Amino acid sequence: MMKHELEKQLDALEKKGVDRRHFFKLLAATGLIAGANTGKANAFSSSAKGKIVIIGGGAAGISMAARLKHWLDEPDITLIDPSDRQFYQPGFTLIASGVYQPEDVWKKQEDCMPSGIKWIKDSVAAVDPVWNQVTTKSNGKIPYDFLVLTPGLQCNWEKVEGITHDTLGQGNANSIYDFEGAQKTWKALQEFAKKGGKGIYTDTYTKHKCGGAPKKICLLSEHYARKQGTRDKLQLNYFTASKELYDIPYFTPRLLEIYNERNIPINLNVRVKGVDTSAKQVHFEKIETKGEEKIVTPFVEDYDFLHFTPPMSAPDFVRDAGLGWTEGKLAADAWVMVDKETLVHKKYQNIVSLGDVAGIPTSKTSAAIRKQVPIAAKNLIALMEGKEPTEKYNGYAACPIVTDYGHVLLCEFDYEKKPDVSFPFSMIDTSKEQWLAWILKVYILKPMYFNGMLNGYA
Ligand SMILES: Cc1cc2nc3c(=O)[nH]c(=O)nc-3n(C[C@H](O)[C@H](O)[C@H](O)COP(=O)(O)OP(=O)(O)OC[C@H]3O[C@@H](n4cnc5c(N)ncnc54)[C@H](O)[C@@H]3O)c2cc1C
Repeated sequence: MMKHELEKQLDALEKKGVDRRHFFKLLAATGLIAGANTGKANAFSSSAKGKIVIIGGGAAGISMAARLKHWLDEPDITLIDPSDRQFYQPGFTLIASGVYQPEDVWKKQEDCMPSGIKWIKDSVAAVDPVWNQVTTKSNGKIPYDFLVLTPGLQCNWEKVEGITHDTLGQGNANSIYDFEGAQKTWKALQEFAKKGGKGIYTDTYTKHKCGGAPKKICLLSEHYARKQGTRDKLQLNYFTASKELYDIPYFTPRLLEIYNERNIPINLNVRVKGVDTSAKQVHFEKIETKGEEKIVTPFVEDYDFLHFTPPMSAPDFVRDAGLGWTEGKLAADAWVMVDKETLVHKKYQNIVSLGDVAGIPTSKTSAAIRKQVPIAAKNLIALMEGKEPTEKYNGYAACPIVTDYGHVLLCEFDYEKKPDVSFPFSMIDTSKEQWLAWILKVYILKPMYFNGMLNGYA
């Protein structure tokens, strides 16, 4: 049986003279860092009153519930979410590369729900923002005074012709944007590295969560094959719907260099139209513009291993409720129309929205949510107090691009696409991949998520 990648890394650390026990003590200390914010989280309080309903208990919804509970003297919070499990989704990439086991990335939802919050285990079918009420699938209508809109996003698998959620993995067409999909990807990747052939990796034309994820699994595949001594048998290609591989100027040059060094050609401005899983062919469209004219050129590529990214949008009920943007780039997929600084809805002043569903021009990552939560919570409380929302979010997002088993290009940036590097990473050159950032990604961020962020502290 293959040894767990994480075990191998710990063995390697020991060989370098880093004792396992000391290493875990260091990690425990990082848990304390998350806990150290406890005082800060509790330092603010308000006697504002009102019934708050939160739709969606993922990264954003649970963290908001916990934060509001800390800050309100008499919180009246109802959270609606149908899930049994809370997933640490950034771990999906690490499942798909054999670093994490599936059971490493989830906890029971009931164990993540803050005490004192009324949890309705149900799905929201509709929102009426004029009459301030939510309709659930099985629990009828629920009125609110203030609404926190955090249902995440919807993966529209069927928008790739030939694919449905249920057939993920068939014909070696894999995606890490799904828990089971990530597990199938790891199996398929090991086979691919053994047998060799042509690997195709794609992103999608809509905004998608963690734009770095498709690039990471491509680079990890390459390094995995190298570690197995089979790299020569693999031909890898990356296809992006964007006009460049990555659009954060501080980090892009090194990322391009890495793709070049690893001999992975990058194809720009191409969208996946469909996948023929029996013939193992991807149907692409190259989209170019000449002046006003849009030129679409279809073409087909054979593959032996495919990683694709589904198009994504706000959940249907958000669009149906008229809560999405009605104009501009964010309108087509109905991302929620909030002010990009205050995170308050532009039309309905008793609604805040954050996380993947929010229509703001930054990356959809849980790192971004960590910074959005205190802003959205304080602004919601200001609205409850009848005051103006004054807290401002600067667009901070982070995307740790794993470049190999042992290194991460830690991309942290703001709305201006300028680097916004957190301590202690400001002390090292983050324009290049770093081992310390790998340690953060693999060992620190997950406990920070479950122990700090979801408890309203990190
Ligand atoms: C493969 C992958 C890699 C990633 N890598 C990173 C990374 O390296 N770094 C990083 O910071 N982020 C990463 N992310 C992104 C990060 O996981 C997301 O940005 C984050 O989880 C979004 O949080 P959210 O609360 O907005 O949505 P989610 O966490 O998806 O939660 C949404 C919740 O809403 C509930 N819900 C949905 N519809 C309804 C409804 N109708 N009624 C009631 N409840 C509903 C769902 O059950 C769910 O619990 C990655 C994601 C993926 C998939």
